[in-house]
Amino acid sequence: MTTADPAPQRLRVQIRGAVQGVGFRPFVYRLASDLALRGWVINSSSGVVIEVEGTSAVLDRFLLRVARDCPPRAIVQGLESAYLDAVGFTGFEIRESAGGEKTALVLPDIATCSDCLAELFDPANRRSRYPFTNCTNCGPRFSIIEALPYDRPNTTMAGFPMCEACLREYGDPLDRRFHAQPNACPACGPRLELWDAEGQCLAERDDALRAAEARISDGAIVAVKGLGGFHLVVDARSDAAVRRLREVKTREEKPFALMSPSLASVVETCEVGDREARLLTSPEAPIVLLRRRSSASAAAIVDSVAPGNPYLGVMLPYTPLHHLLLRDLGFPIVATSGNRSDEPICTDEREAVERLRGLADVFLVHNRPIARHVDDSIVRVAAGRDLVLRRARGYAPLPVSLRSAAPPILGVGAHLKNCVAMSVGANVFVSQHVGDLETVEAFGAFESVINAFERMYEAAPSVVACDAHPDYLSTAYARRRGSPTRTVQHHLAHVLSAMAENEVEPPALGVSWDGTGFGLDGTIWGGEFIAVVSGSASRVATFRAFPLPGGDRSVREPRRTAMALLCEVFGDEAWKMEEVATLAAFSEPERRILRTMIERRVNSPRTSSVGRLFDAAASIAGLRQHVRFEGQAAMELEFALEGTKTDEFYPVAIVEARPSAGEAPPAVAGLIDAPVRTIDVAPLVRALVADARAGLPVGTMSARFHNGLVEAAVEIARRTALERVVLSGGCFQNRYLLERTIARLRAGGFRPVWHQRIPPNDGGIALGQVAAVAWKLA
Ligand SMILES: [Zn+2]
Ligand SMILES: [Zn+2]
Ligand SMILES: [Zn+2]
Repeated sequence: MTTADPAPQRLRVQIRGAVQGVGFRPFVYRLASDLALRGWVINSSSGVVIEVEGTSAVLDRFLLRVARDCPPRAIVQGLESAYLDAVGFTGFEIRESAGGEKTALVLPDIATCSDCLAELFDPANRRSRYPFTNCTNCGPRFSIIEALPYDRPNTTMAGFPMCEACLREYGDPLDRRFHAQPNACPACGPRLELWDAEGQCLAERDDALRAAEARISDGAIVAVKGLGGFHLVVDARSDAAVRRLREVKTREEKPFALMSPSLASVVETCEVGDREARLLTSPEAPIVLLRRRSSASAAAIVDSVAPGNPYLGVMLPYTPLHHLLLRDLGFPIVATSGNRSDEPICTDEREAVERLRGLADVFLVHNRPIARHVDDSIVRVAAGRDLVLRRARGYAPLPVSLRSAAPPILGVGAHLKNCVAMSVGANVFVSQHVGDLETVEAFGAFESVINAFERMYEAAPSVVACDAHPDYLSTAYARRRGSPTRTVQHHLAHVLSAMAENEVEPPALGVSWDGTGFGLDGTIWGGEFIAVVSGSASRVATFRAFPLPGGDRSVREPRRTAMALLCEVFGDEAWKMEEVATLAAFSEPERRILRTMIERRVNSPRTSSVGRLFDAAASIAGLRQHVRFEGQAAMELEFALEGTKTDEFYPVAIVEARPSAGEAPPAVAGLIDAPVRTIDVAPLVRALVADARAGLPVGTMSARFHNGLVEAAVEIARRTALERVVLSGGCFQNRYLLERTIARLRAGGFRPVWHQRIPPNDGGIALGQVAAVAWKLA
């Protein structure tokens, strides 16, 4: 099923870097003319902005070539793209810069450039093997900035006075290091040390690096202080080392990220398309989710890196330190965040020795302080576009622009995958991924991210937007601040975040599907349809709710969710379905307790969550009864359908409620709650159970289940009759679900919109909260 949009689209490319005065705009003009694209290019305060219109296939070619074929003297330090609605350009023009206002953008960290890389491996160069080499075109930015303006005294390089040679470069307008704030060399800059588990120094400088490499080769767990925090590193070819890392990190099955020595080595283990190759080698250098090859060389990476997972998260080295490490080792390493589960990534070496006690055998550290934690970003390619799943290094804190200026608004985000956002004028600055606000450390990181934003952008938010969940720590924080607060319903925030980043104006229908979000009717929401029209938003449809016996415990045990759903659909019959994997997964005593719970409705909140439907389907299909991490069952259900091609789908029943007489209820948390349609999944569950009883392959059941949800969404779109359909929420990280929904909506004459730069998961909530207040919905 193709997701290509036949209608013309507009592609916006924002390129940061040394691209002015090097023939970049004429190059863009020629490239656009070559491809018969209409639009314009203009210089901006930090690079160039391009907008071109055409069909998606040609725009894709333009995007790949603009990065690859640019003039030799142009240096791209960052590139962000977004596909937007066409506006009908007539020709192509080089526009004159408007001049005037310079926005003080705090730049993200930039992966090592090719010039610095060449110096690093040139034995004659004074920076040969120097792990902190950088220049105006690459190196640390966001992770070292303590205040604006971006000058050395305002960075964590303040404590390193430049030597004479470095000062000369810094002051020479013709030098690549002219005003390179983190400029350093072995004589004056930061240096490496290798520490034992107690923090005693074992070796210095290059000896420290060599010794750390020897330990990694020996199977040790080495904590490496990098750009935005620590990684825990092991040899990705060693099952024993990877298993030990899982054990000490108490991370049973959640996939680990890899760092590979080169693009060529990634291609040996994974399928890498043009778009994925561009991402891997881009200045942002994120972790890219890639489909693993089944060949022998792919087997060099042990399965315990990502058990049962057909995808691997892979990045390339992005600092000189990582380049040296990977070049010397010559094999891929696991490079996972240096933290305990639920805590933010460690940034300080003394603190790391305490917090990572028992996790790391040795510590490879350096004395350049990290101003703030910045995790590795995660991106996957879906529906032919980039889809950012975790926005941090390389992307944060770049803004999303609103159509018009707003008063300063702070969005404090959700509880899981937290990030915050703040509007300054028409820009909404979106913070790096903070993480789950489950621990004191995580909450501390959350507060310091907010404080840093207020300091850097010299903004005092007049309104603080938060989730409607009264128990979220972010909500409690918002109330404590004393500024006026606005609550924004969780699923509305999802929809608005996708609308904001895609510059979509109302009216639109939002399809907001995730695991959990605070509802306004005493139930847990997660399968919501929200119509956003000018000035108001209403929940117009939802899924039939079912109980979650044990609340959170159901989330960890899909079998409980499934059993509750079966009881909802089949009543007492459900307890006789011995041949269905769900019931078989319970012992007699467990069944008795669960049955009482469900029948007496003890601690069994009701939910309309699509994420929980995925869990239940995974259990009924016999795929998984317990999960080790959030979203695992849904992920495995997605993986199970690989290779299955079918348009068959499980049916649902759509129940129309009579619109209530009289006036519509008032909006609470930005949302009028008046669903007039309910998707009853009983027919879907019956069909799934019949297939499970007949012993059909899991892949077939999975495809029919996915397709059934897609058809349900398309049918609600048909009945709601809004042309624009906005897809958001964690469920749309699922590539099959996303791509099929897009294709089926297009076939039905709708214009689907989905996330690109901002995560569909709860990492997008903060932006949606700010948008809700800016658009006067909250
Ligand atoms: Zn450089
Ligand atoms: Zn120096
Ligand atoms: Zn959510």
